[in-house]
Amino acid sequence: MTNQNIASEKTAPRDPADLSLANLMPRRPTVGPDVPVVLWRLLRLVSLHDILREETAAVVYLMGKRLGAMLGAKSIEELHEQLTRLKIGKIDLSVNTPDVVHLAIGECMTCDGITPPIGRAICQLEAGIVAGALETIYPGRKALGEETKCIGGLGDDVCLIECRII
Ligand SMILES: [Zn+2]
Repeated sequence: MTNQNIASEKTAPRDPADLSLANLMPRRPTVGPDVPVVLWRLLRLVSLHDILREETAAVVYLMGKRLGAMLGAKSIEELHEQLTRLKIGKIDLSVNTPDVVHLAIGECMTCDGITPPIGRAICQLEAGIVAGALETIYPGRKALGEETKCIGGLGDDVCLIECRII
């Protein structure tokens, strides 16, 4: 019997899309839980744009929405803590009116340090994360996230995501 057969008797293959945050906790006692930001950028910016081209922004926004919902935040404060713990950047999350939430990201994981600026906003993943999280915080409502300032995309001081809750 091959090793593959033995493995399949133990557990049936699972869909990686069904993994929860608890399933994903790393076990790397000597290397540690983090990876370099440059590796993230090679995947998120270079590889994804190479494959998806003009569809990248829409696809990563949807990825972000799913990710934001998976966080399971129950309040703005909890979302602030989670985004900080995930090291997305220096997080400044504010509820401006009952229907508009702003997230300013300094030292953005995706784009701060990219020079010269690319010429268009590129942090749609982060916009999706906020929108997805807000839809779990405000059940029954829809959230639309848009990045209006971008450090590595447009040369701004922060990445600014404006989320409208409908
Ligand atoms: Zn950014």
